[in-house]
Amino acid sequence: MRRSPTVLLALALVTLSSSAKAQAKKVYISVDMEGISGINSDNQTSAAGAEYGRARKLMVEDANAAIRGAFAGGATDVVVNDSHGSQRNLLPEDLDPRVRLISHSFKRHGMMEGLDATYDAIIFVGYHAKAGSPRGVFAHTGSGVLADLQINGQSVGEGGMNAFLARWYGVPVVMVTGDDVAIEEQKATVPNVRGVVVKRAINSRAVELRPLVDTRREIELAAKESVASAKKAPPVRLAQYTVRMAFRDPTIPEVAAAFREVTLVTPTSVEFTRDAMPDAYRLIRVLYRFINTD
Ligand SMILES: [Zn+2]
Repeated sequence: MRRSPTVLLALALVTLSSSAKAQAKKVYISVDMEGISGINSDNQTSAAGAEYGRARKLMVEDANAAIRGAFAGGATDVVVNDSHGSQRNLLPEDLDPRVRLISHSFKRHGMMEGLDATYDAIIFVGYHAKAGSPRGVFAHTGSGVLADLQINGQSVGEGGMNAFLARWYGVPVVMVTGDDVAIEEQKATVPNVRGVVVKRAINSRAVELRPLVDTRREIELAAKESVASAKKAPPVRLAQYTVRMAFRDPTIPEVAAAFREVTLVTPTSVEFTRDAMPDAYRLIRVLYRFINTD
């Protein structure tokens, strides 16, 4: 059967658009600061610190390496979420111009703001060890008021908590960068994650920093390969999420017990249960970040 040129053109367009759709790949990149290449002092990670300006440049370099790798690995759409402190550290003018940036800390889902089931892969850049880790550089969870965070009995740091939310949406965490302790901890919650160790923790302050040119090259390559091989998994939605939060002192638990579902289990720890991980995440964030203890 002969077809008119118009029909052939329409068929070609349909084929093109459906194959483009099949190849669309959305990548979500959450960028913290403590685990960035070259960073090892709190006068770098705090906005009032003398070396904060330097640290912001280091942060955007690691982020850009991951972004370049993600696009090289087939990403067609990349969203970057600034995940440290004020969450206004990354300057859009320094960031790879192909991405959209989520900025400011007034977010329901903090380090995972905007994540949903439409994404194909997640990358954590600049992550650090959880509260109580004896060796991890800047080891802490959330705002620093927590001594420990447990979800369904499992002690997790920020990377572990974020992985619970990622699984709720069925989006794989394919890669993490940070010090060696952060990478090991991430593997406890995401066994197959690709880790890039950008520095070796000597203790919670001292580090052995790898050459920046090497870490950025490695981040780019790992992002390329892990995005290229990323496979979505079915969402993991547990029957319920029971969260236990142990604080460093009783101030926040005492106030937090005002929420009906929050139970004081010891003078310094609270527990609550939610049916959905995104809801549990919101309340965890409210309790560690948005209760003013001044
Ligand atoms: Zn952090």
